[in-house]
Amino acid sequence: MPPTPSAPAWGRYERLMPAEIEAIFAQHPVAYLPWGALEYHGKHAAVGLDGLKAHGLCVELARAAGGLVLPPVYVAANTIKGLKNLPFPRHSLDFSEGTLRALVREHLDQLADEKFRVVFILCGHVGQPHYDIIKDEAAQFNARQGGTRAIATSETDLVSKDIVIVNHAALGEVAFLMHTDPDCVDLTRLPTDRVPTLEQDAVWGPDPREASAEKGKAYTAAFVAAATKVIAEAM
Ligand SMILES: [Zn+2]
Repeated sequence: MPPTPSAPAWGRYERLMPAEIEAIFAQHPVAYLPWGALEYHGKHAAVGLDGLKAHGLCVELARAAGGLVLPPVYVAANTIKGLKNLPFPRHSLDFSEGTLRALVREHLDQLADEKFRVVFILCGHVGQPHYDIIKDEAAQFNARQGGTRAIATSETDLVSKDIVIVNHAALGEVAFLMHTDPDCVDLTRLPTDRVPTLEQDAVWGPDPREASAEKGKAYTAAFVAAATKVIAEAM
């Protein structure tokens, strides 16, 4: 029998004591930074969907690749709150692009100061220019120093478009959330007599009534496989 390879060391940064952080860091100097939003995602999904999803995916990725998962940052620009013609402006927080830029920059500088080799920012909210701002700050960070490599991406950039496409509160991210945080989804709150729409239901993308935890699990496996390669290359 070949020896069973031991699972990579990983942990949730905020829950660990220094010795535990250092033991994981010695093997996997990788920080995972889930970047979320507090944003209306229909009556059927929690307003923290983007950060919950990104955190759940980072945990599964860290289990496979090793490293330390930071708590999600729930500060986003360009949320649905900016779409003034929609009838559901509540329960969405929309921060300025300047605040977002400063937070990305300072997180990267602080994690570089902690000597992480790789910082993997997973953007659960891909509204624009929010998403491009995070990528731009990561690129600027990589250009100005060489000790830490920043990666800013999203699950929809890593997983094949045949599996998941960019969406809001639709099949893709709702299925992810049913896998990572099943108590944060209630599909019975979706209409049964018509297809959900952006204007009525804040749904943009494939029909979320098709979502299931099983699909979320399959999407997550595809994400972990793709992201593990990205991290290995960066190391
Ligand atoms: Zn979302």
